[in-house]
Formats: sequence, C-alpha cells, structure tokens
Amino acid sequence: MSRIWNFSAGPAALPLPVLERAQREMLDWNGSGSSVMEQSHRGKRFGEMAARTEADLRELMAIPDDYAVLFLQGGATQHFAQIPMNLAGEGDSADYLVTGHWGQKAASEAAPYVQVNVAASSKAQNYLSLPPRETWQLDPRAAYVHYTSNETIHGVEFRDVPDVGDVPLVADMSSNILSEPIDVSRFGLIYAGAQKNIGPAGFVVMVMRRDLLQRATRPMARILRYAEHAANGSMLNTPNTWGWYVTGLTLQWLKEQGGLAAMATRNRAKAEQLYRAIDGSNGYYRSPVDPAARSRMNVPFTLHDSALDAAFLQESEAAGLIALKGHKAVGGMRASLYNAVPPEAVDALVAFMQDFARRHG
Ligand code: PMP
Repeated sequence: MSRIWNFSAGPAALPLPVLERAQREMLDWNGSGSSVMEQSHRGKRFGEMAARTEADLRELMAIPDDYAVLFLQGGATQHFAQIPMNLAGEGDSADYLVTGHWGQKAASEAAPYVQVNVAASSKAQNYLSLPPRETWQLDPRAAYVHYTSNETIHGVEFRDVPDVGDVPLVADMSSNILSEPIDVSRFGLIYAGAQKNIGPAGFVVMVMRRDLLQRATRPMARILRYAEHAANGSMLNTPNTWGWYVTGLTLQWLKEQGGLAAMATRNRAKAEQLYRAIDGSNGYYRSPVDPAARSRMNVPFTLHDSALDAAFLQESEAAGLIALKGHKAVGGMRASLYNAVPPEAVDALVAFMQDFARRHG
C-alpha cells in the first residue's frame, strides 16, 4: 500500500506522523492495555491527555486567560444555530458577513434564534471577492458580527481580521484555523469543525471570551449552553474521546513543526506555488477568485476547456493525486492545501498540471 497525495476539502489529510502514532497506540495507549476509545473520559489517563490538549492549543494560539477553550460535538453546522442561542437574547439582531456558501448557511441556520442582518454580501459577485469594508452595514447594537474567515468552497479568505469596533466578532475558522498566528484578543468567539486542519469530523474546537458565556439567558437544555460546557471542562456528557485524542496528536505535531508561524510560512509558500502555476499557464488553468481574496487553504481552478475535466480527474487520480474535483456549486477543480498537505504534494500537483497541459495541448 502507498499513501496518496490528498487534496480533499474535508475530511482532509492528517499528518502522517499523527496517523502512525495513532496506529502504534491503537491497542495499547499510554501503557493502559487498551485503546483510547475504550476508556472512560473520567479516567486519569484521559484527563491528563485532555488537559495537555487544551494547554497545547492555548500555547499554539497564544490564547489569553480570559478565554475559555471548549471541545464540543455536532460539527460546525450545529454551532451555526447554537451560537445565536448563546450570544443573542430575545429580540436581538446579529450582523453576518456573507462571503460564500458557509457564511450563507451560518446566517440561515441562525435565523430562527436571532434577527439576522446581512451586513455585507458578495453573492452578486458569485462569492469570488470580498465585499469592500466601506460597504458593510454594521449595526453597533448587534449582539455579534459573524464571518467565515475562509470559505472552503469558493476559495475566498480574509487576509486580515475584520475591524468591527466593540461588537464581539465571531469567526467560523473551520477551514483555516491553526494555519497562521492570529490575535485571539480581537475575537469574541472562534469555532472550527476539526476535519480540515485538526482531526476527525464531528469534533469542534471553540475559543470563547469568558464574559460572553453569561449571555445565554433564554431557556435551553444544559447541553446547548456553552457556559455549562465551560463549567464542566467540556465533559458535561461523554465527549468525542477519539476526536480529542487525535486533535492532541495534531497539536503536538504542530509544535514540533515550529508552531503556527512556521505553518504560516509553509502554507503561504505552498499556495503561492500553486497560484503561480495557474497564473503562469497562459490561460490553460484559471483561478476565478479575486487575487486579493485568494485562499491559501482551498484553491479552486478551472481548465480552459471543461471538456478536459474528466480526463484531468482520471489522470490525476491515476498519478496518486486525490480529491481534486471542485464542489458542484463552483465546478472545475479544487486543491485543498491544509497544514497536513506537505510541500511535496504541491510539487507533485504542479508537475502533473504542467505535464497534463503539454500532453493535452
Ligand atoms: N464551515 C466551513 C467553513 C466549512 O468548510 C464546513 C464544512 N465543509 C462547515 C462549516 C460545516 O462543517 P460540519 O460539516 O462539520 O458541520
């Protein structure tokens, strides 16, 4: 068996050393004689691993003490609904910056719980650019401002943290968390589904300013209330123990790589190499996204003739380059270049693209 180069948008490639370590530890984790999945989350071993995982996340992201770290379930989608339940009171409104499929979904899932104000949208531009800051209609009385720091399908990424004044900023970072250092203090809440840059699907990492935990005043089940999760160390009920464990391994791997600054350098170089190959192909390949908004994580591109798409996918797969088919909403191709995708994968992709263009003229 040989490993492929995996460009999946998610669930996505995990670092090979993380998989190898999980494999080594599968039958006997930490001298326990059983796998991590077969143990109580209340046990000493699990508790130590859980605490180390939180400490490593705090260290990597430089999370200030007045922020809680939560490890949750439900995917990012569940939190599209749970965030307004927790951050907005009856009658409140919230501002949404809609810059692609996921921002749109976040807004529509929030609508039953908060009055959604679409403060900016790039829908009319087919989500291929970011709405200019001066066009945003922000409401200073909004309960929060929600945005999607990287749109996984459209390949659009904010290069700066949006300036929204004193209103708490909420970021869906599912597809670019841990890809570069960020200033956590600029945010009220950061959340991410794990299956792109962190670990297994279904696991959710959340970083939340502690004062916002007190905002949830409407009646709701305890399991929906972030303050309850915070007060119970994210073990209000049985957590996703496997997701927590693999996340811990990924965070250790990130530290060994030199942390987020090193990842940022590597991620920038990978993306620049691919965009250079696209832009330098004399129109054989095209990136539809405004260069100022191009994502470092997800690179959609088209071939000059869509009749070649099937051959491109078939031949790339035969060459061991997997999951390059674009999302159906956009078409064409998409290469996802998360942390675990090594520079060698991009080398192989660029070499394949150049060879394909030569052979198919
Ligand atoms: N937000 C973004 C930016 C995503 O890319 C995705 C999944 N592709 C989601 C939210 C939804 O995540 P989940 O399927 O884990 O609910």
